[in-house]
Amino acid sequence: MSTGKQAVHEIARLYRDHVNPDLARVIRITGLGTLEDQAEGVRVWDHEGVEYLDMAGGYGMFSLGHRHPEVVQAVADQLHRMPMSAKVFLSPVMARLAAALAEIAPGDLQYAFFCNSGTEAVEGALKLARLATGRTNFVATHGAFHGKSTGGLAVSGRPGYREPFQPLMPGVEHVPFGDLEALEQVVGPETAGVILEPIQGEGGIHLAPDGYLQGVREICTSKGALMVADEVQTGLGRTGRMFAVQHWEVEPDLLVLAKALGGGVMPIGAILGTPEVWKAFRGRPLIHTSTFGGSPLACAAGLATLQVLSRDRLPERAAAEGAWFLGRLREVVARNPDICAEARGLGLMLGLELTEERFGGSIISEMAHRRVIAVYTLNQPRVIRFEPPLTVSRQDLELALEALEASILRTREVFSLSTISPQEA
Ligand SMILES: *Cc1c(COP(=O)(O)O)cnc(C)c1O
Repeated sequence: MSTGKQAVHEIARLYRDHVNPDLARVIRITGLGTLEDQAEGVRVWDHEGVEYLDMAGGYGMFSLGHRHPEVVQAVADQLHRMPMSAKVFLSPVMARLAAALAEIAPGDLQYAFFCNSGTEAVEGALKLARLATGRTNFVATHGAFHGKSTGGLAVSGRPGYREPFQPLMPGVEHVPFGDLEALEQVVGPETAGVILEPIQGEGGIHLAPDGYLQGVREICTSKGALMVADEVQTGLGRTGRMFAVQHWEVEPDLLVLAKALGGGVMPIGAILGTPEVWKAFRGRPLIHTSTFGGSPLACAAGLATLQVLSRDRLPERAAAEGAWFLGRLREVVARNPDICAEARGLGLMLGLELTEERFGGSIISEMAHRRVIAVYTLNQPRVIRFEPPLTVSRQDLELALEALEASILRTREVFSLSTISPQEA
């Protein structure tokens, strides 16, 4: 066995004995069962120096690519000054990040609370919605993904992730995404908020139909419920606008962010809210807190990230490159209608829906053989998603398309033979 193979074997054994045996198995089936070692820009290298093009982009975490030099520098500077807050003084870095977000956020989302992940941001938003309205219930959508802590799960839409943990937070109803009539029927005097993603990510890259978000806004306003936009995945340029709700000119009462906010260098989540919502903190400023949340280190990464996004006009880049890539994906669909059903998305948040779920694993592992990282969406394995860094070059997008089409051809061969030889599985 080569030393490279031995190293994989050793780490797989550690996964089996100390991490999660089935996870290691699943990773190996995708063809990505190698050891991640280094990353820069749109590329990741394994322990043997094999180079991969990252078209998954950490599900939206790597909007600036891996190890963006300005974010790394900002974090390094802060690391040597004061990485974690003493929690008793005023924090200049956190205050500046809150103000910078208020400047770019839609409507009067003027306040920010910082945490460490997407699901924590959702949890906090649910709590604030209850406090601000004095109501208890929520409405969410089928297929939604809002994280895997218990509150996030309660509003998420995939039964398989929810059912083992019942009873979850009571008072949550799910309605079909895009269906205003269904929503109108369930939003009532006890509804604190309606939570939804402007584009469902893990649900399989589903865009809000035209008029839908405006309709949600109107229903919320007329019934006194808060509109909570989960932009953990869509936020900060991914869809071609800084915030996806801006495509439809809708102003939510609460908006949650995470993934891209740390520039791919630090974990950070944020809850943005209006002055009306933030009245929830009046007279009880410590009602919602976090030890690590809003650390100077994470906020320094956030500030540098916002600077790069705006200065390099990355939302505009995502719109232009995404439109081009989507056009090319649609050509791939047209050439391969037996395997591909539809390509859709906005900006660089794109999905390729397959005609059958079983093709997904084959295409992803064939792409891995061709050194391109692609993954399917968590709630919908029939959809392969493309969320590369917003800095990706046209040349790299071409490379990804070539690998995709070759992988589709190979998948057709494999399935028409209807036997998979062990070396190729
Ligand atoms: C990823 C995601 C979350 C959860 O974020 P974590 O940081 O993994 O907890 C919540 N909402 C949406 C829309 C997401 O895509």
